[in-house]
Amino acid sequence: MAKLSIGIIGGGIGGFSAAAALNHFGFETTVYEKAERLREQGAGMMLWANATRVLDELGLLGRVVAASGPTENFLVRNSRGDKLMDIATGDFEVPSICIPRSDFLSILAAAHPAERVRTGHEFVRLEQTRNKVRVRFAGGQTAEHDLVLGADGLRSPVRTQVFGPREPVYRGYIIWRGIGVDTAGAMPPETSSETWGRGRRFGILNTGGGRYTWYAAVNVPQDHPDAPAGRKAELLDIFRDWHAPVEELIATTPDAEILKNGACDHNPMRRWVAGRVALLGDSAHACTPNLGQGGGMAVEDAMVLAKSLRAEKSVEEALRIYEKRRTVRTRHIQQRSRLMGSIAQWENPFIVKSRELVTNLLPAKIFEFNLRRTYSYRT
Ligand SMILES: Cc1cc2nc3c(=O)[nH]c(=O)nc-3n(C[C@H](O)[C@H](O)[C@H](O)COP(=O)(O)OP(=O)(O)OC[C@H]3O[C@@H](n4cnc5c(N)ncnc54)[C@H](O)[C@@H]3O)c2cc1C
Repeated sequence: MAKLSIGIIGGGIGGFSAAAALNHFGFETTVYEKAERLREQGAGMMLWANATRVLDELGLLGRVVAASGPTENFLVRNSRGDKLMDIATGDFEVPSICIPRSDFLSILAAAHPAERVRTGHEFVRLEQTRNKVRVRFAGGQTAEHDLVLGADGLRSPVRTQVFGPREPVYRGYIIWRGIGVDTAGAMPPETSSETWGRGRRFGILNTGGGRYTWYAAVNVPQDHPDAPAGRKAELLDIFRDWHAPVEELIATTPDAEILKNGACDHNPMRRWVAGRVALLGDSAHACTPNLGQGGGMAVEDAMVLAKSLRAEKSVEEALRIYEKRRTVRTRHIQQRSRLMGSIAQWENPFIVKSRELVTNLLPAKIFEFNLRRTYSYRT
């Protein structure tokens, strides 16, 4: 098994997490990415304790922490800034952090031999024989591996070929995001927050050095066009008079760097493995971003797969165990994430007022207990 040659389609966070975990246990991996160069777009992302625990095991946590900001507390607030709940998130042996995506991808990619990264390789098709998988790319190149992973994202071409077409499901709101600066120090130290309004919400994640990754989720149709005045002007209008530093974070983000995505996921899939092909990351279990766990699930997938391949005598058995363990875990996250999103995006004034009252009355311990289940996961 140690001599297995593994081809990974997709050089995003999932692909390079898989490469890092598999390399850690001595497997040889080649990463194929369709883009001409490796690139992660978009602000920062949360890596909660379940993900940083894996990065610690891989020896990467020090570099990740150096490029990020810590979150010890997570506040839930209303648009005036009144605190509805203060959830402690730092009660683990590893930190929860927010890191710029491009830094995270660079750290993962640097852990992989550069000569086995093939950019400009767009997967088009694969064929399986009894114990090999042959892969074809758009430029006419081919490759053969003992095992192939489809880490090619939400619209995965590997998944489409092996399991048939599946459209992402739009959940009713668009998310804008960026990285801004809180010059007046309105955010308490080592704290992140989410502010709930009516059909709109604003999240602030401590990314270190006074920078904050922010996200703005607003109920609009999926084809909602950009405002003629630009994304920044539209968001400043939507979030006018919200508590500090909401407007400042939007205002200090260059318009061209504000990203916009529909909140989409997939309904959970029961099968992700067929012969010697397995899915990993968003291709297998895309979820809405409400728990900040999509990337974390990919990191967990990577470690569970690597450990299964190390422990089992055959590829088939290792993949069977991988699929069994990961479908249960990720289905739970997909469903909870979708539920959290729909509650946070409620817009009926009476229901929103009731949500505020209940959130204010509920002890934070209930949320902390629930989150502990998610964060304490061990691969
Ligand atoms: C608004 C938003 C906020 C989020 N916040 C968080 C967060 O705070 N924390 C968190 O953990 N997660 C978060 N996520 C989720 C996280 O971004 C994803 O789960 C994660 O990026 C998935 O990584 P992936 O590698 O599986 O897929 P992707 O990042 O989509 O990477 C897939 C790669 O495959 C390549 N590819 C595609 N097709 C082909 C092909 N034919 N041939 C070769 N290569 C191909 C692509 O170019 C890409 O590089 C968020 C998501 C969104 C939308």
